[in-house]
Amino acid sequence: MPADFPENRRKCFMCAGQPGERETYAGKSAGKLLQMFRARGSREKEKPLPANPQENCFRCFASGSSREKERIMQDPKGRTISYLRLSVTELCNLRCRYCMPPEGVVKRRHEDMLTQEEMLCAVRAAASLGVYKVRVTGGEPLVKKNILSICRGIREVEGIRELCLTTNGILLPQMAEDLREAGVDRINLSLDTLDADRYRLITRGGELQDALRGLKTALRTGFDRIKINAVLLPDTGTEEVQKLASLTMQYPVDVRFIEMMPMPGNDGARGQSFIPASKVLDALPAAEPLEQSEMKSWDRGTVARLYRLPGSRGNIGLISPLSAHFCASCSRLRLTADGHIRPCLHDSREYRIKGCTFEEMREMFIASINNKPAGNPMIFGEDRAGAEMTGKVFSTGGGIATAGRSMNRIGG
Ligand code: SAM
Ligand code: SF4
Repeated sequence: MPADFPENRRKCFMCAGQPGERETYAGKSAGKLLQMFRARGSREKEKPLPANPQENCFRCFASGSSREKERIMQDPKGRTISYLRLSVTELCNLRCRYCMPPEGVVKRRHEDMLTQEEMLCAVRAAASLGVYKVRVTGGEPLVKKNILSICRGIREVEGIRELCLTTNGILLPQMAEDLREAGVDRINLSLDTLDADRYRLITRGGELQDALRGLKTALRTGFDRIKINAVLLPDTGTEEVQKLASLTMQYPVDVRFIEMMPMPGNDGARGQSFIPASKVLDALPAAEPLEQSEMKSWDRGTVARLYRLPGSRGNIGLISPLSAHFCASCSRLRLTADGHIRPCLHDSREYRIKGCTFEEMREMFIASINNKPAGNPMIFGEDRAGAEMTGKVFSTGGGIATAGRSMNRIGG
């Protein structure tokens, strides 16, 4: 980040930051920022390129070498921010032990949640800053009544090139075709076991057959590449890993094993040991690392380390948020169903956009990118990690303060 904004520089094309404007977003609470934006009013529409293409904007970190048609937003650590995970609901038709507290979800007031118009406005604001990939998630996105129209709306936003959706698959048999028509390119499906009793136990009552029917329908529907997400639970054994991995021999799917993250309200938060993703390789001695030359377009940029079983139709992925975190290359922002931008899954800092105009949402995105933490506080040991993990309130210093949220209330 340049220390000073040279007086001879023109306004930044991305955020219209002006020479002489010294205020920085760092350390300001979301409430304070919103006050500041509102007092200042809408920024000018004209956004010329910075004069010096070598420097990033001091305020929004837009790269001076990027062009209007190829927006690139970088955070203070130089990470390009291009990916938004949009949670459309906190509700779900399952209650997985690692995701949700046993009592399930308390239904919130309709007026506290983002409307479809606000979600689409937020996607437009993010896209105007360089986000080109959106993943729709939740809760379970397919229980959201207007999910098809939300997907269609996202697809129409200028700049959005990829639309993905994460689901437990239960409702896919009746919805897969409509989702494809609504413009969803790719589906990730959560499946942690192929044992019906264990599935019932993990999901607190779900039926494995329903999820498998969902998977088979999705395979017939022609999505680009289906990825199966399997969370590694303390009792995930060798045989389970092998059975799940063998899905890559049967179907053109990737199976990704994910370390269980301790979140408020889940078993991991009560101190159970997690299984490192590397254990998966012990169960699959024949798995070979995937060569760069064998990677397909959907493999590039993934946070998973990729392997392949001989003769398989898909990859095995290891996703290790704990043992080998990927914070240094994190390109994500999350937007919760109740309208909070979260720059990091494990950091309670949030920027509320409920009720904001397009310009205000844009400013909030800029602020959240400016304040994206360097890394997962569980690993980097920032003070707020303790608050997050125990579910205590961590205050951003102003009007917006949040308790740690369970995964279904963030959007995994
Ligand atoms: N309901 C959808 C589903 O289950 O795919 C979407 C929402 S779910 C929160 C998104 C993803 O987060 C799922 O793949 C789930 O396995 C993962 N997830 C939830 N809690 C997790 C945890 N504590 N650690 C790791 N992954 C988790
Ligand atoms: Fe629901 Fe997905 Fe959470 Fe399971 S992981 S409870 S399916 S939101």
